[in-house]
Amino acid sequence: MNVLDLVRPEIRDFAPYSSARMEAGGGTVLLNANESPWPPPQDGGHDLHRYPDPQPLALLDALAGVYGVRREQVLAGRGSDEAIDLLTRAFCRAGCDAVLVATPTFGMYAVSARVQGARVVEVPLDEAFALDPRALLAAVSPEVKLVYLCSPNNPSGGLVPIEMIDALTRALAGRALVVVDEAYGEFAQSASASTLLQRHANLAVLRTLSKAWALAGARVGALLAAPEVIALLRRIMPPYPLPTPSVRAALRALDADGRALMAKRVAATLAERARVAERLRQTPGVRRVLPSRANFLAFQIDSAAAVHARLTAQGVLLRDIGRYRGLSGFLRLSVGLPQENDRALELLAPGGAAA
Ligand SMILES: *Cc1c(COP(=O)(O)O)cnc(C)c1O
Repeated sequence: MNVLDLVRPEIRDFAPYSSARMEAGGGTVLLNANESPWPPPQDGGHDLHRYPDPQPLALLDALAGVYGVRREQVLAGRGSDEAIDLLTRAFCRAGCDAVLVATPTFGMYAVSARVQGARVVEVPLDEAFALDPRALLAAVSPEVKLVYLCSPNNPSGGLVPIEMIDALTRALAGRALVVVDEAYGEFAQSASASTLLQRHANLAVLRTLSKAWALAGARVGALLAAPEVIALLRRIMPPYPLPTPSVRAALRALDADGRALMAKRVAATLAERARVAERLRQTPGVRRVLPSRANFLAFQIDSAAAVHARLTAQGVLLRDIGRYRGLSGFLRLSVGLPQENDRALELLAPGGAAA
């Protein structure tokens, strides 16, 4: 079975909007896109009066290089959020299809599904916040078209073992597309699911420059998948998804210097994560600190809501994740600079309000 058989039939046969930039590249007299002939003020030579390249080859090649795939396997877009939205719209028919999520997990999978009118099937992680593959497979009804695996998982921090991803994807061949979200993959220091792409047509991997690459404000993410899936999504994507300044920032981040800097910062974050986890474990009132493979720590603390409010009043913002399934009384701390983490730790200790 072809993976495109899982796509909504009306999308499969869809004739995309054809933009001026797509129809003709190059040229020296550009009178085909109704742009302004003048650059905006203080443009710095960036040609912002021109529409951007929809998928700049230099960016696709840089992303393919960093993620170890071929250019045809990469779709670049506005963060992983855009890829999640495109996948949902391409694979889920409103009112009949469904997506599967392993909860507690990142909220955007369910939000995109609900916007599309697709049902959300939830499979709870176990008490250790690990995925039970048998429970997951048992929950995949014929309506389920997308199965999301967030690894490392936000907000619980654990990894889905790559052997489990391999086995689940094989078991779901011809039935569903497995979407592995590796937004925190750089911090996990383990093999990416993209190494399995050659083996499975029904696998897709989400990556982002928003976390380890320090570009949350630029909104650049990538979907890695079989070339036919990438080509299909390009057809339903808005014509100019990538702002010129964002592409430029991404290319700088992904060059040799940028890659070295990223690796150094990841190492610093991992060392700091270990230090903060240890300090949290020694903090009175903290009951549990979940092992994390990402750049954050989820921990359970007595009177979590009050503690959260106390920190917020001091201008120190943590995420209250108590509303997630199984995470009642939990807060999530993103690992920041040592002095920022120390400020949070100081306020978390009882009597911290006086500090
Ligand atoms: C932060 C995050 C993302 C990143 O989203 P972008 O749109 O790329 O900024 C994706 N998935 C998860 C699980 C995240 O936590």
